[in-house]
Amino acid sequence: MTDPNLSDSASFDLLVRGGTVIDGTRAPRFRADVGVRDGRIAAVGELWSARAAQVIEAAGRIVAPGFIDAHTHDDQALLLQPGMQFKASQGVTTVITGNCGMSAAPLRAGVDLPMPMGLMDGADGLRFARFGDYLDALRADPPALNAAAFVGHTNLRVWAMNDLGRSADEAEIDTMRGLLREALEAGALGLSTGTFYPPATHASTREIVAVGRDLAAFDARFATHMRDESGQVMESLDETFAIGRALGVPVVISHHKVQGRANFGRTAQTLPRIREAMRHQCVALDCYPYDAGSTMIRTDRGMLDGRVLIASSTPHPECAGRDLDDIAKEWGVPREEAARRLQPGSAITFLMDEDDVQRVMAFDETMIGSDGLPTGTSPHPRLWGTFPRVLGHYARDVGLFPLETAVWKMTGLTARNFGLSERGTLAVGQHADIVVFDAATVRDAATYADPEQAAEGIDCVIVNGVPTWAAGGSTGARAGQVLTRGPMGGRERAG
Ligand code: ZN
Repeated sequence: MTDPNLSDSASFDLLVRGGTVIDGTRAPRFRADVGVRDGRIAAVGELWSARAAQVIEAAGRIVAPGFIDAHTHDDQALLLQPGMQFKASQGVTTVITGNCGMSAAPLRAGVDLPMPMGLMDGADGLRFARFGDYLDALRADPPALNAAAFVGHTNLRVWAMNDLGRSADEAEIDTMRGLLREALEAGALGLSTGTFYPPATHASTREIVAVGRDLAAFDARFATHMRDESGQVMESLDETFAIGRALGVPVVISHHKVQGRANFGRTAQTLPRIREAMRHQCVALDCYPYDAGSTMIRTDRGMLDGRVLIASSTPHPECAGRDLDDIAKEWGVPREEAARRLQPGSAITFLMDEDDVQRVMAFDETMIGSDGLPTGTSPHPRLWGTFPRVLGHYARDVGLFPLETAVWKMTGLTARNFGLSERGTLAVGQHADIVVFDAATVRDAATYADPEQAAEGIDCVIVNGVPTWAAGGSTGARAGQVLTRGPMGGRERAG
């Protein structure tokens, strides 16, 4: 394990001493010290006599690769809240942004953004006309965590089309293709779509394939919030696989779930279908560990069929954190009417079956992604709780899978699927993204009633060799890097 050329009196910038390593490959844990030099892992093994500028004592703790959040909407938060406490506090060291068809770029200044894009538009209205400008802004004012970004298909539609109520024509497709090429040249991971949402509902499969035609030439990926995650979920899966095959690129099924009481249990059908597709093409998927979702307030698509908590509302900010039923009663109107009056805004909707949530999470190819929305004062608790909830509640308390598997779903598997080959595993030569946590006490503290709570049991989070979270708080370090696309299994470029 130890570098054979390394004398044991070697010196490091940072030494994580006495811990138990879970290396992100699903291999069994082992006792080892970890030496860091120049932002990379320089040694893993017995390093008791090594000298180091800084030592982190990890006796009785797990030392793992920093977690990679496979699905986020942190595009603008990385600039507006660069400390990224809601993620750093969970052990996250890298976020994948630009999901569900929505990214920070390209966006024209001054254009009204249709929902749900409005949800992602920061208070300061940070918008970038070119994707490369967004990445440059991150490089100029680095956040605490690494970031890699998709470019959103809905952004391209909003840029290129005057009427979103139809499929794009040839000229519009050409414009979108050009914007996508520009983003890919700047280093975007790939293209994401959100055909579930009104601004992209009318995009045909053909439009998406035509816009995405250049993805394969760039070794890029296709990620999707599918058209339908309820009654038509099987058809949506088939569309996703067909797009991946037509483009010849890997696909990522975002936040896989089935919604609505009538569909409870149907992950027993979707997962075998996904496994079957995996025999013929590259398919990845992620999920968050909760039976409630969160998105824009909608009155269609059965989105009000279960309990609804209002997370934010532009016309009625005072309603954030309240139950839609209580608001409707107070206003003396049906809940649908109350929901309409609260628009635009976001809601937490309880539309999933816990058995489905667990079945998807336990599926061996499922990555962990928070899908948190970093806006407002009453976000879904997944924003602060996703990773410790999987480690504590689901792996330790429920026993859904071993801790090694939980870590792999947040690290090695995710790095593999997004081509981040120098991250996601704890081994000599890898970037020094590391989390130290207590397997016995790690737990999510964020709840629906009190969502902005840092997790417990996360001792230390190191990003590119620099401690970012320690002793229950942010260190103020901003060592995050912009990660740009590398081929599957190839080397990413950082910087
Ligand atoms: Zn989504």
